[in-house]
Amino acid sequence: MDFHSVDNNSTRRIAALKQRVDMMKEHDYYFYNQAVTEMLPNAKVRVNGRVMGMYASYSYLGLVGHPRINEAAKRAVDQYGTGTNGVRTLAGTLTIHNELEETIANFKHTETAITYTSGYVTNLTVISSLMGRGDYVFSDKINHASIVDGCVMSGAEFRRFRHNDMEHLEGLLKNAPADVSKLVIADSVFSMDGDIIDLPKIVELTKKYNAWLMIDEAHSVGVLGKQGTGIEEHFGLGDVIDIKMGTLSKTIPSVGGYIAGKKELIDYLRHGSRAYIFSAALPPAQAAAANEAFKVILDEPERIDRLNANTQQFIGGLKGMGFDTLLTETAIVPVLCGTDEKAFELTKRCQEEDVFVLPVVSPAVQEGMSRLRATVTAAHEPSDIEQAMEVIYQAGKAIGMVK
Ligand SMILES: *Cc1c(COP(=O)(O)O)cnc(C)c1O
Repeated sequence: MDFHSVDNNSTRRIAALKQRVDMMKEHDYYFYNQAVTEMLPNAKVRVNGRVMGMYASYSYLGLVGHPRINEAAKRAVDQYGTGTNGVRTLAGTLTIHNELEETIANFKHTETAITYTSGYVTNLTVISSLMGRGDYVFSDKINHASIVDGCVMSGAEFRRFRHNDMEHLEGLLKNAPADVSKLVIADSVFSMDGDIIDLPKIVELTKKYNAWLMIDEAHSVGVLGKQGTGIEEHFGLGDVIDIKMGTLSKTIPSVGGYIAGKKELIDYLRHGSRAYIFSAALPPAQAAAANEAFKVILDEPERIDRLNANTQQFIGGLKGMGFDTLLTETAIVPVLCGTDEKAFELTKRCQEEDVFVLPVVSPAVQEGMSRLRATVTAAHEPSDIEQAMEVIYQAGKAIGMVK
């Protein structure tokens, strides 16, 4: 098809996006898809030939490149090669997959666990195989896109409650028919705002209204709790989440997603979720890396202490300079800018000074809530964080965001 000669909705969509990207490039506001050529110690990277402080990483405990994890991946390649014999259900399952699932179940204190090849796909396939027409799903308004897509794909009645608003959630639960299956789902730590879901209250509500609870721990594993095991540990609650979802691509330096829970639930997913049945198994190196990473988190708790100290320093420092960091309590630190233009300009000035941060603009966040989303990790040096904050401060001052 010649995109230039046909005029329909699809070609218009492509043209509109191209125009937006071209505009950004024209103003030097295009920051996406920049290649890192080298990963350096202390959360630094080489980009465009320059060494920059990485303040946009999800590697919260700085585990990318950890010797034990690299070694485990290499051993798996030697033992199994780089691929598998297909999908898990048929010929694709390797011992390392079973080991990984056992490790996750131990880490999350559940009976068992199942893994998929991405976190995104985990949410799609799990929500849509548990819920269907006539059922009700209740989702926080700023939940991750993969949750939204999974809810839509399920065909269930889709109810969105105001962000972390438990009264609103209760109202919606009350209005749903008593005899339908209900699923309440939320991020543990919200990926754009860095704040934490009110777990005690949401547990109470799901019990009261006989609903399942699914929590996405993409940003809480390795981050929340003294041992880094996640949101239940953070609130001092036991095993209160029915469906514990997480990714293997953030603190865990691999790729993939998992669900930890009761044996009955996981057995159902092993035979009833399409991404498990119709998509190839995790590559051995990635499974082995993930398996080792969960153990490293437990063996090296000082990383969590360092992450917490760095987070306090970063949030406290930026607030003290006059920035609005919303309600974050974690390593994801939004710096509210308002307009897209301000977020782009702040990012540009920071990157020019070798602080690698990225803007988040609409439609990823609500209009008027555009921001820089910065992150810190356990790998950052406090003196580097101090310097990065000074760069952000000078840039913010130059464009009238702070005094
Ligand atoms: C990143 C993320 C995912 C998707 O995980 P991938 O492993 O990158 O596919 C799902 N949920 C949340 C909240 C995330 O932040």
